[in-house]
Amino acid sequence: MSLEIFQNILSKSSNTVVFTGAGISTESGIPDFRSPTGIWTKNKPIEFKDFLSSEEIRVEFWKRKFAVDLTISKAKPNIGHMVISELNQMGKVSKIITQNIDNLHQISGVPGENVIELHGNTTFAKCLDCDLRYELNSIKKLFEQTNNPPYCKNCSGIIKTATISFGQSMPKEEMLKAEKASLSCDLFIAIGSSLKVYPAASFPLVAKKNGSKLIILNREGTDLDKYADLVIHDEIGEFLSKSIKLIS
Ligand code: NAD
Ligand code: ZN
Repeated sequence: MSLEIFQNILSKSSNTVVFTGAGISTESGIPDFRSPTGIWTKNKPIEFKDFLSSEEIRVEFWKRKFAVDLTISKAKPNIGHMVISELNQMGKVSKIITQNIDNLHQISGVPGENVIELHGNTTFAKCLDCDLRYELNSIKKLFEQTNNPPYCKNCSGIIKTATISFGQSMPKEEMLKAEKASLSCDLFIAIGSSLKVYPAASFPLVAKKNGSKLIILNREGTDLDKYADLVIHDEIGEFLSKSIKLIS
């Protein structure tokens, strides 16, 4: 039943925006935050102010980062990413606003200009002061040799993965792009997010309040379910692969 309603709403849309959270990448083997097997059950996230103020915490940050990377660097896009990529190629989905930092939408074939990364990208690093980009291989080598966190060769600033930590300012340009996309769409589909992390989770409501339809696809309920035109509690890959068969 939800499948037909989903297909019906999607077929009537002329500008769909997809919004994704960690749930779309669990089928690629990357744990989400809030599920029972999620990252939070093991480690509380490191806040930005603590990262800035303590070298010991920066060492812990990089230790965790390289441990998680064993999973992230091996992860491949799953059927959910592939369906969204196909919808983008078909011109059905214009933009993908993602909270994910794993680069899997881009690897699935979505051109970078169509992916709006609200929380950055963990596949490279940047100097927090001068923005100089660093590849992870060189940082990892040095970290393993010295056990010291990296500093910028250009300005001695602190280097951090190009991600947005709790307490760190949101990227201005990406926020503007996400707002523009949310205000211009006539269908907004939130997929695999608990919709608890703000300001990212405000975009479904920005779209809805501006007259867009809202669909939420997530295994469990979210706080925004009550505003949605359609709520689907299902597995993402399974549901999206069934739906693309109907669309194409
Ligand atoms: P979240 O962990 O808060 O919520 C994920 C939701 O997806 C949960 O409600 C869970 O029930 C659901 N889910 C998980 N697997 C599913 C599946 N196969 N089918 C259907 N539903 C499924 O994640 P969030 O809302 O994205 O917030 C977490 C924050 O952590 C984000 O801001 C993100 O930046 C970061 N994060 C990113 C990654 C990643 O890049 N892959 C992974 C973990 C955390
Ligand atoms: Zn620098």
